[in-house]
Amino acid sequence: MAHVIAVTNQKGGVGKTTTAVNLAASLAETGLRVLLVDLDPQGNASQGVGIDKNAIEKTLYNALVEGTSVLDMIMPTEYEGLFLVPSHRDLVGAEIELVGEQGREFRLREVLAPVRDRYGFVILDCPPALGLLTLNGLVACTGVIIPLQCEYYALEGLSELLNTVILVRDNMNADLAVKGVLLTMYQHTNLSRQVMEDVRNHLGSKVFDTCIPRNVSLSEAPSYGMPVIHYDKRCAGAQAYRQLAQEVLLRG
Ligand code: ATP
Ligand code: MG
Repeated sequence: MAHVIAVTNQKGGVGKTTTAVNLAASLAETGLRVLLVDLDPQGNASQGVGIDKNAIEKTLYNALVEGTSVLDMIMPTEYEGLFLVPSHRDLVGAEIELVGEQGREFRLREVLAPVRDRYGFVILDCPPALGLLTLNGLVACTGVIIPLQCEYYALEGLSELLNTVILVRDNMNADLAVKGVLLTMYQHTNLSRQVMEDVRNHLGSKVFDTCIPRNVSLSEAPSYGMPVIHYDKRCAGAQAYRQLAQEVLLRG
């Protein structure tokens, strides 16, 4: 069965999309088939793999709300083995339109069920909120990766997120596990080092050995619609995400 990994943290701007896009691309580079699912109305993951907004016909909204088959919206990317379910702003409406529906937390799981076993990994890029879209991600996945930015307040909100994960596991998705916490945007400063130490002391082996450095190429690559391993394949950011992919494969 495919691994379905939700990259999630309700805090904004911590590196979720950067991680989802670059982990997906790095896994695909190893020869696996990977489906990247953009669960965020901001559509950043869709742009990050170079999908032209105007080329998108159907989005995750159509699948979640109207029950359109996900087969109609899976798009190939320029990168071998890497596929995308795109989204854009209309996905905001899904949060509202699904509120009164029965089984609304299970929509994404149902949408992905017919296709998930065609892929080695399905990677979900969650929005920065613990709303219905993220809840759908948590119900649909087999594990979560939680990026934490190496900044003051890194751990803020983490206990709320972990409690939500436990609630979902106990009530809706017995498969759910925390795959790992990922430190992102690490800089060689005292603050970054201190945050890394605190997080490792607090969460122990849950923290990936791989730590993602702050790296200019990582921030530039999305504007070219390219995962960093294709934009600047030898930069520190590319090396870090390749290493993360290996760690994810090892952790199983
Ligand atoms: P949101 O909560 O809005 O969805 P996010 O958690 O998905 O945000 P990203 O979009 O991945 O966060 O990253 C936020 C910003 O920081 C982006 O401009 C991104 O290019 C930049 N960024 C992320 N990781 C790094 C890094 N390791 N080095 C440099 N810039 C980074
Ligand atoms: Mg994002």
